[in-house]
Amino acid sequence: MSLTTLDGSLHRGCGGRYALQTESVTMRISGMAADVSREFYRCEKCAHENRTIDQRDLAEKSATEQIRAAHALLAPKAIRQLRESLGLTIPQFADLCYGTPKGIVEGWEKGRYLQNREADALIRGLLDRETLEKRAAKAGVTLPALPDAVVEPAGEPAHDPVPA
Ligand SMILES: [Zn+2]
Repeated sequence: MSLTTLDGSLHRGCGGRYALQTESVTMRISGMAADVSREFYRCEKCAHENRTIDQRDLAEKSATEQIRAAHALLAPKAIRQLRESLGLTIPQFADLCYGTPKGIVEGWEKGRYLQNREADALIRGLLDRETLEKRAAKAGVTLPALPDAVVEPAGEPAHDPVPA
């Protein structure tokens, strides 16, 4: 359903017409808040309000971007690059983030979920080799051999790196 525009459409309940409005709302995502301006429709006759999926999505996206910037959280692409640079699969990466469900990690990488500050710090912590090795030992994850100077360009990462 993509009712991208309801502007001027009929509110069958009363016979009035919907007009585009803007409201300022505080949205909370992963425990963090952002003030965004969100469009919606209001019936000019009875004040009934209607919000399309697009309007909700747009507001959520805008809130996510604001929160990400305000808290300097890693972007989805940066999380994937970090994981790939370490030669880790999603399940391994999830285990190294103290057993975060792998669906959540996938969501972070796809921008479907926003990691909170604690999770962001957890992810960044993996950049420190000592921390990485400690957590790997604890989680029973076999780390791939340290990458040499050879860096593969974009493409599919090796999903099951074979230890030398
Ligand atoms: Zn109405």
